[in-house]
Amino acid sequence: MTTSTNQYQKPLTVKRNSDGNLEIGGCDAVELVEKFGTPLYVLDEKTIRSVCLDYKKSFEKYPNTQIMYASKALCTCALASILQEEGLGFDVVSGGEIYTVYKAGVDMRKVLFNGNNKSVDELNLALELGVGRISVDNFYELALLNTLAQGQDKTVDILLRITPGIECHTHQYIQTGHLDSKFGFDLIQIDEAVDLILNEYTNLKLHGLHAHIGSQIFETRIYKDEIDILCKEIARLDEKFGLKLDEINIGGGLGVKYIDSDVPPSTFEIGQVIIDKLNECVEKYNIDSPKIFLEPGRSIISTSGVTLYTIGSSKQVPNGKKYVSVDGGMADNPRPSLYQAEYYAEIANNKETTEKEEVTISGRFCESGDILINNIELPKIDEGDILCVYNTGAYNYSMASNYNKVCKPAMVLVNDSCADLIVKRESLEDLVVHDVIPDRLK
Ligand SMILES: *Cc1c(COP(=O)(O)O)cnc(C)c1O
Repeated sequence: MTTSTNQYQKPLTVKRNSDGNLEIGGCDAVELVEKFGTPLYVLDEKTIRSVCLDYKKSFEKYPNTQIMYASKALCTCALASILQEEGLGFDVVSGGEIYTVYKAGVDMRKVLFNGNNKSVDELNLALELGVGRISVDNFYELALLNTLAQGQDKTVDILLRITPGIECHTHQYIQTGHLDSKFGFDLIQIDEAVDLILNEYTNLKLHGLHAHIGSQIFETRIYKDEIDILCKEIARLDEKFGLKLDEINIGGGLGVKYIDSDVPPSTFEIGQVIIDKLNECVEKYNIDSPKIFLEPGRSIISTSGVTLYTIGSSKQVPNGKKYVSVDGGMADNPRPSLYQAEYYAEIANNKETTEKEEVTISGRFCESGDILINNIELPKIDEGDILCVYNTGAYNYSMASNYNKVCKPAMVLVNDSCADLIVKRESLEDLVVHDVIPDRLK
C-alpha cells in the first residue's frame, strides 16, 4: 500500500540545500533562525495539506465521512484556517479552543466539544457560538447541559461519549478506552443515559455515539473492535428505544513515526480497515450506514512540525555520557519528560566534519528529567550549531508552559520559500502582564 504522510519522519519538503544547510518549505533553517531566533517551531504547510489529502483519499469510498481535527494537538488561528480550507471539522476540548477556532473563522457547526469536565461557562460559550455537537461525558453533564439549553431556549445536538472497554498497547497515560477510565459512560450506563435524554432532558437531541481509545496507536485491530462495539450499541438502542442514531465518532489516535522503529499504519490502510469494518457491521447488525467521524490530532500535524534550537553548553561526564544543552526543553516540548517520548534530530547547519559522536540532548530547564533525546549519534557538535528536532508539530506548543519564567517560542509557517510568523515569540513583558501587586504591598 502507498506510503502516507503520517509515515514519514520528517516534513515532506526537508532537504539539504546547496550550502549544506537543512531547508524546510524552501526556507533555509539557518536563515529562519537568524530572522526569528530560537527555539523556533516551524510548520510546513505542504505536509499539513498532504496529510489532509491522504485522509480525504483514504475515505473516498465512504463519502459519509467527516475528519474532525483534534485541536488539542496544536491549536492556532492560522492552522485552523488551513484545516478549514481542507474541509476538516474540529474537535475542541475547552473554551480556549472553541474561541481560537471561532476567531479563525471556522464554521462552528463543524465543531464538536468534548471533555470530561466542561465548565458552565464553556458550555454556555459553546451554545452561544453554535457549536455543532457536544459530546456528553457523564450524568452530571447531561443534567447541566439540559438546564443550560433550557436557559437559552435551545435544543442541543449531542453525542454520548462511551468507554468501550478496549485496551491498546500505548503508554498508560495516553490510553483512554479501557474500563477504568475517567472518560465517558460505561456500556452498562448507556441505557440509563438514553432513557433520561428521551424522557426528561427534552432540550437534548442525541445523534450518535463517540469513543476514543488512545493515542499513538499502531494496531488497526483496535479500530475494528471499536466500530463493532459502537455499531452493535446503535442496533441495540434502536431495538430497545426505537432510537435511530446515525453518527459514529471513533476518536483519533493514529500514530506517527517519531523514531526509526515506529511503523504506524498509513491513513490508507486505516481507511480501508475502517470502511470494511463499517460495511461488515452495517450488514451484521442490520443498521443504516452511519455517518462516520474521525478525530485525528497527532497524525494530522506532528510530522509537519520541527523545532529549531541553538546548542549552548556541553558537559562530558568523566567516564560517562556527553550532555549537550539546547536553549529550550521541557517547557516547549514536555513529552520526553512526561511520557518518555523519543525524538529524532539532526544538525541543521552544514557540518564539514565527518566525525560523529553520541550525545544526550538536554534542555535548559531546572529539572534533571529535562532531557530531550537520550543517546543520539550526531556529527561532532559545536556551540552555536542549530539542532532540528523532528515531529514536534503535535503536543509540543499545545502543551508548552512558562516554567522557569521562560518565554514561549515563536512559530513560523513555511511554504514555497516564504516564512510567515503565525505565533509571536513571547516577550518579557508578556510574562508579567497578568501579575498584580496588591496596593497594600506597594
Ligand atoms: C486526544 C484526542 C483525540 C486525538 O488523539 P490523537 O492521538 O492526537 O489523534 C481525538 N479525540 C479525543 C476525544 C481525544 O481526547
